[in-house]
Parts: sequence; C-alpha cells; structure tokens
Amino acid sequence: MTRPLYREDPYLTECGATIVAADQRGYVLDASVFYPQGGGQPGDAGTLVSEDGAETSVISAAYGEDRTQIVHIPADGAAVLAPGSRVIARLDWRLRHLRMRIHTALHLLSVVLPFPVTGGAIGDGEGRLDFDIQDSGLDKVELTEKLNALVARDASVLERWITDDELDSNPALVKTMSVQPPRGSGRIRLIEIDGIDLQPCGGTHVRSTGEIGRVAITDIQKKGRQNRRVRIALVD
Ligand SMILES: [Zn+2]
Repeated sequence: MTRPLYREDPYLTECGATIVAADQRGYVLDASVFYPQGGGQPGDAGTLVSEDGAETSVISAAYGEDRTQIVHIPADGAAVLAPGSRVIARLDWRLRHLRMRIHTALHLLSVVLPFPVTGGAIGDGEGRLDFDIQDSGLDKVELTEKLNALVARDASVLERWITDDELDSNPALVKTMSVQPPRGSGRIRLIEIDGIDLQPCGGTHVRSTGEIGRVAITDIQKKGRQNRRVRIALVD
C-alpha cells in the first residue's frame, strides 16, 4: 500500500519513497504526497527525482485497483524507473495550493447555498458545484458577498474521524449526493470548518478560510429544470 502523506499533512510538498511496483499506467510508491484523483479533485502533478538527479515528470496520480495504492502517471516518453529504486516525490505545489484554496471555497459555497449537491469539479483557481435547486432567483453579487464574509472570518479547517455507524445515524452530514464517502475501512473522515461547515471529505484543504483569499461567483447556469451549476474563481 501507499502511505497517503497528503492526508496527514496537505502542506508537505515532497517526500522520499521507494518504487514498489510499476504497471502500464505508472509507478506505485510506498509513500506519497500526491493526491490521487477523486471526489472532483484532479490527481496531483509533479516530478519523481531519482538518486542520480534525473527527473521524471508526473502528469497525474490515481488510485490503484483497491484504493490502497497510489499510481503516479508519467508523461509520455519518460525514462523507465526500476521497482526497488529510491526517489523523491515532489509536487507541483503551485497547482496543488490553487486546488486546496478552491476546494475549501467549495465547502463554503455549500454553506452559502444549502441545497443538495449533485456534482462538482475542482480546477486550478476555479471550480464548480451543481445544486439540486428549483428556484433560479440566485444573485451572483449577493452570493459572492456571503462567500467572502465566510473567507474573512478566517475560520480554522479541522479534521475529525467517525465510524460508519456514526455516519449512518447522521445522514444529514452528507451533502454531496454524487460522491458518497468511502466505506469499508470502518471510519470516515470529516472536515470541519470551525462554526461553519461539517461534512465527510477525503480531499486537501487549506488551514483556515482566510488563506483562500477573495473569491467570486463567476457564473450561474441553468442545467435543467431542477439543477443550477454555480462557478467560482479566485480573484487574485
Ligand atoms: Zn473537502
């Protein structure tokens, strides 16, 4: 299995690791700072640096077959790395931090618009959520102000773990209908934004809402009678 260091510390930008396997898609490491694609958040990009200093570009990361392994997908034509060799796994931190800011901002969006979420995506400095919502009387300016008021509170972003049974007895915790929290390991990770939001999430977040910086609602699109796609972007 790959030890998911991105979950223990999302601010870790690199780690030493051993290549434990290689397949058609890429390289499995024994530990990694790379977030594997999931929950609307893309897999991280970066490089694997060999002991001789050679750099292998990684275009994305994904789960292996059983979600305990993280596969690092190399760019086309990258040199072949041998299982057993040591590397430094280094993130494209600029991209990851943009995604952490947007991801955390989307949690705030789900508070400003307290409706069921049917989908979402996290991009590099922009993102969206789709809401199951009938009324279209949504005002971009008003929602943007509410969002930035939550950012300005600089609330702490904390992690908590609960059991599957505890989640079953609190079904209202799950806002995202399209992404059910992973079950089977017996425990579920909750992300709490102090005094603002609490929901299951396996993604990467900033430490406090102030770090998001100013955001704006850039578009509200009708995607069907009962669906609105709301896009946000970082302002700076
Ligand atoms: Zn999250």
